[in-house]
Amino acid sequence: MTEPPSPLPVFTSSPLLAMRGIRKSFAGTEVLHGVDLALQSGEVLALLGENGAGKSTLMKILNGDYTKDAGEILLDGLLMDFRSPRDAQRAGIRVIYQELNDAADLSVTENVLLGQLPRRGNSFPFSTMVDWTKARARTAEVLSSLRADFSPDTPMRRLSVGQRQIVEIAKALSATTKARVLVMDEPTAALTPREVEVLFKTITSLRAQGVGIIYISHRLEEVRQIAQRVMLLRDGNVAGIVAADVSRRDIVRMMVGRDLEAQREGEAPAEPFALSDESARQPATSSVEPEPRPPDAPALETLHISSGRAFRNVSFQLRPREILGMFGLLGAGHLQVTRALFGIRSIDSGKVLINGQRVHVDSPRAAQRHGIGLVSEDRKLEGLVPMMSVGDNLLFSHWRAVSSGGVVSKQLHRTRAEHWINRIGVRLKTGVQQPIATLSGGNQQKVILARWLEAGVKILLLNEPTRGVDVGARKDIYALIDELRREGLAVIVCSSDLEEILEVSDRVLVFAKGNVVAELAGATATEETLLAAASV
Ligand code: ADP
Ligand code: MG
Repeated sequence: MTEPPSPLPVFTSSPLLAMRGIRKSFAGTEVLHGVDLALQSGEVLALLGENGAGKSTLMKILNGDYTKDAGEILLDGLLMDFRSPRDAQRAGIRVIYQELNDAADLSVTENVLLGQLPRRGNSFPFSTMVDWTKARARTAEVLSSLRADFSPDTPMRRLSVGQRQIVEIAKALSATTKARVLVMDEPTAALTPREVEVLFKTITSLRAQGVGIIYISHRLEEVRQIAQRVMLLRDGNVAGIVAADVSRRDIVRMMVGRDLEAQREGEAPAEPFALSDESARQPATSSVEPEPRPPDAPALETLHISSGRAFRNVSFQLRPREILGMFGLLGAGHLQVTRALFGIRSIDSGKVLINGQRVHVDSPRAAQRHGIGLVSEDRKLEGLVPMMSVGDNLLFSHWRAVSSGGVVSKQLHRTRAEHWINRIGVRLKTGVQQPIATLSGGNQQKVILARWLEAGVKILLLNEPTRGVDVGARKDIYALIDELRREGLAVIVCSSDLEEILEVSDRVLVFAKGNVVAELAGATATEETLLAAASV
């Protein structure tokens, strides 16, 4: 995107927003240790930090969702005391959360104008008749300013995650109190490149109007492009503030407090670990392998599979200890291939072979029976139960199996859960009993991975495995995937993220418009070759 430089307001000495010495504890554990933040009018301040650093908590305090234990918030130099999101909104603060909580049954118009639908007439005492013509027109206007490609009448549930994000932004822009400070918590995590472009144009125009923007993102390229300053949070402290045009490597280093590249080079070999109790009891040598198949025979093979208009004629082989990347732009069909292999999308023609045997996977249950697991791109659909603990979520399938036998060993349960938590490197404040909902996206993702391993899958399908996950946790997840590969799993990573595909894949299938258009060796693939192949 080559945007002409926009005229920027001159920064004045008194910031638009100042947060000073903010402290916050949960259940006796302090997670923000006196954080200072200053935001100028017309500025985009990127807020970076590994998962769990305290970014969302800080923003929830700004939004009046949480009360701070100490510190002060000043808007235009005036002391504020937000006791609820309403207070914050009245002062012109709008937070667009990462987790979109829009009502699926409402239309776009109802959602955008929630609580402020125009009424017909202005007569006594108040009219209950909504002026839908006016409401629709107002919504259409905001949507068109955002260049949205859906109508005000569309039900929310028909929108993509990216489109729902646009609705959230429209909602913030059409509020009665004009936003002065806009907080975006990972706004582009689910957006298409075109939607990102629209969002950036919107941000640029908001800046010109003097709106200050706090922008939480894990995509460094994007941060460098849109922000003027970057503030790094680490473990509840401000770890640094830098101009957004410093090198990517410097930002990463400050973020995680270590040099990732250096760490990779000095990497220790992974220790073997049991995938489940069952596999641990099996002999570890391959000499007693009952099947005559050679060890590198494909674990999974497809022959000309097609599914509706999503993909056609897809053939590939996937071997144990291999990571096959599937790359494509939005709608290229690659994400549907894994869904079909997991039984949540039907295959109209072609064959699927697992360990050389033809199988019909027509449901997730069938997929699991064949040792296939899928981590979908929408973590909300993962079946994590927010009310349950990390441990119970982790051992959900196990729990069912154990409890059907009538006896549940609490001790065994806890020990296994702890084993996995250590294995995947998730730090918990209150142990495996901690509610899963308190974990960051990256850590939830690790729990989802561990759950499949606990279930003993041999073929793991990952759709956008690090969408919305920060750089540090991303590297952890890649390391985990690599380790699983070395343990003998066959892995497919489906992604629209070039860097990700290049980082993890042994081989890459490139998809465009539902077809496999190229196959590249991971070692020789480059951003240019992948993009060139995908953009037909
Ligand atoms: P980030 O947004 O940077 O990933 P968060 O602000 O979500 O980080 O979390 C900071 C820390 O506070 C984490 O250790 C998290 O587990 C903890 N935390 C956040 N919300 C709660 C809560 N409601 N109850 C208990 N702990 C919480
Ligand atoms: Mg967060």
